[in-house]
Amino acid sequence: MLVALGAAGMCVPCTSVIVARRRAVPSRAVEARQDDSVNDEQLKSLRDEWPAALADAGFDVQQVRLYPFEGEQSDDGNRAYYFTPGQDVHYDVNFPDEKGGQIEDANKHRDRHRLAVWVDSSTPVLGARLRHELEHARQVEAHGNHLFDLNDLVLGVLWVKLEGLKGSGQLYNAIPLEVDANAAAARFAWQRYGEDVVRDLADPASAAGVKDGVLFRSLTPPGPLESLPLRMLAFLYQFADLCQLFAERRRRPFDDLLEEAWPGMARAWAALVAVELGNREAAN
Ligand SMILES: [Zn+2]
Repeated sequence: MLVALGAAGMCVPCTSVIVARRRAVPSRAVEARQDDSVNDEQLKSLRDEWPAALADAGFDVQQVRLYPFEGEQSDDGNRAYYFTPGQDVHYDVNFPDEKGGQIEDANKHRDRHRLAVWVDSSTPVLGARLRHELEHARQVEAHGNHLFDLNDLVLGVLWVKLEGLKGSGQLYNAIPLEVDANAAAARFAWQRYGEDVVRDLADPASAAGVKDGVLFRSLTPPGPLESLPLRMLAFLYQFADLCQLFAERRRRPFDDLLEEAWPGMARAWAALVAVELGNREAAN
């Protein structure tokens, strides 16, 4: 999706638009009863798309909790969140549990994957968004929460370059973790809603394409899940200069930060550095 730098596990729209606070959908989870605060069409769409997205991602309904919120996005402009197992969920504008129940439920089920989604979207956008977030759950199933520790580091490094700049979502969406989630969303949408719908939604000539088109722009499935950490490292290496700046600001060697995020990765980083030095020597 269109996203910008944010905290771990969160998908943040590239332009944060402050909107009036809306009430949270009071249902504790998607299987809860319908309530007047969500119109019929929204909830029907969610109930149809959620099982389909779960099945496509290979999860059953017991493995992932979904927390729907009313409106297009949070007060911070977020349209969906993924919470890793074990992560605490706190009240804030991005989990606006104003009527109570959802935060309690999310923390009670902290051992599971949990998603928050703002439901006021067209059915294909909502379905693709759910599938995007579920791909993050698949990534964590494969690699554990360390993957989002590594993502935190990537975001911190990119933040050196982009902090506060609107439109930074373009680079965010090049992070392999997001490229794969968007590819999963696009493939799901292609199969479920058809090629014409997907091509239309991918087109930035339309308002929908500008807003959510990144969910639909992939002709290929996600890259190999097993290579995702290495692809994250390769992505990070493009910004080796920023890595040093980031480390200086933290007053710690970058190797330490990398090793902390992903044990063993500092050695792979050193190998990349050695390759670059080797090539320079060979050229002389
Ligand atoms: Zn994402």
